[in-house]
Amino acid sequence: MAVSSTDSAVSKARQSLLDRGYKAWCENTAGTTRIKLGVRVHEPLQASLLAEKLGAVICALDKIPGLSSEALRHLSSSSDDEWSAVTVVCGDKEIIVINPSHSVGRMSTDLMHELSHLLLGHESAQTFISEEGFMIREYDEKQEAEADWLAGALLLPRKALEYIKYNHIPIEEVTQIYGVSRQLYNYRCRMTAVNRQYRY
Ligand SMILES: [Zn+2]
Repeated sequence: MAVSSTDSAVSKARQSLLDRGYKAWCENTAGTTRIKLGVRVHEPLQASLLAEKLGAVICALDKIPGLSSEALRHLSSSSDDEWSAVTVVCGDKEIIVINPSHSVGRMSTDLMHELSHLLLGHESAQTFISEEGFMIREYDEKQEAEADWLAGALLLPRKALEYIKYNHIPIEEVTQIYGVSRQLYNYRCRMTAVNRQYRY
């Protein structure tokens, strides 16, 4: 589940849960995933394209037919933070439910976060089954940290950041082209040390 993170950043405490080598693996995965989908390494990766590849359906909360008020209540009260995206299993279909009231940047980060759980093959730590048989997945802290990091790498891999910096693409265009927030862009530039590389 992706809950509200004001700056899309993975906190230091959460980062400490990541295994050694995991960040490098994410960069690599961001590249190989693009190649498999016919996208060049520096180009934006559409969440919908990845969802299709993973056999997941993306649906806005208010578009799910017959979701009970009980399930809705669970979705909207699962955390102190504001709910933003969650994976629901219905039969053999994975449905990623998004909160359509959020910004494009926020939605694409949250979508990628949910797709990252699927890509990583995460088993849910806990599940909630609603009256009509929807199974709502919940993950543990380490799985959340892994999905956060992979989502950032998939949206803005180092190769894309290098391309952006090399071509002096302004931040306004970056947020539009890659469908990300300014915060995520700045965070990824810092974390991948691209800022330092292109300072001059
Ligand atoms: Zn999650």
